[in-house]
Amino acid sequence: MRGFFDPRQLAHAPKREFHNGGWTDYAEVPARAEAIVAALGGAEAPTDHGEAAILAVHDAGYVDFLKTAPAKWAAAGRDGDVVGYVWPVVARRKIDLTRIDALAGRYSLDAATPLTADTWTAAYWSAQSALSALAAVQAGDRAAFALCRPPGHHAGADYLGGYCHLNTAAIAAQAARDAGATRVAILDIDYHHGNGTQDIFWARGDVFYASVHADPATDYPFYWGHADEIGEGLGEGATLNLPLPQETTLAAFRAAQATALDAIARFGPDVLIVSFGADTWEGDPISHFRLATADYAVLARDIASAGWPVLVVMEGGYAIPALGANLASFLAGF
Ligand SMILES: [Zn+2]
Repeated sequence: MRGFFDPRQLAHAPKREFHNGGWTDYAEVPARAEAIVAALGGAEAPTDHGEAAILAVHDAGYVDFLKTAPAKWAAAGRDGDVVGYVWPVVARRKIDLTRIDALAGRYSLDAATPLTADTWTAAYWSAQSALSALAAVQAGDRAAFALCRPPGHHAGADYLGGYCHLNTAAIAAQAARDAGATRVAILDIDYHHGNGTQDIFWARGDVFYASVHADPATDYPFYWGHADEIGEGLGEGATLNLPLPQETTLAAFRAAQATALDAIARFGPDVLIVSFGADTWEGDPISHFRLATADYAVLARDIASAGWPVLVVMEGGYAIPALGANLASFLAGF
């Protein structure tokens, strides 16, 4: 299977994140991608597909914020990485404010995802890796892999969060639609619910979103991913959430994934995009499922047996010593 990654995706390296009431070391580190590249024995450089595919999903003001916020932060006399401290939760008033702290609140979901001067470049090439892997599938490959780091599924059209800036799965899904695919399905099997992907396609019936994840009653992102969220308008019924309790092992996870695959089969996609997170692994430092390395090959075989062309995009996974083996197990299942 072809795999895509650009070394410029390594440059984004925030120092810290705000988590459970205090600052901790940033978990989404460049070494994650280096471990995966090593396990794969290398990766192809992506082609630059330009910014249009990004702007087909993301708000132009938000993209400008990603590019310019670090300079505005520095101009305000601040040290360190850009992070907000006020969020417009009562009503998201999208008014034109210029102070960097107002912008950081308007375009952020949390304080766990600081921006550095290198974030835009890293996120841009993460998106290009997804678009290049999509191109491989469009050219006839049965499956292709995009080493998207930074990851994407928590990012909405106009907000970052959960270590995510550009929603690579959504960008690839929209690009597939724009290239002529009638129906696209996204299967999200990261430990966390992909709130951003769900949000982007919430009211659309042409992109089906199914997610197997930790119950948001106990785990990030808390406010999204509950079983009663099914989409609305044209998208009603095109969102499927299958939350599972902490300590879930393969049998229950595999059964939930089978439910998702059955729903996707009824939808009938031209292409399947898999948001893959290895933070479901039993030793992940920030998550609480109990999947073993060999389990990922089982899950991948179940997906592959459905017969759709598959684009796998990388999401989470924070146990760096096991990350390469877990990803290799998953890809081997195809
Ligand atoms: Zn995750």
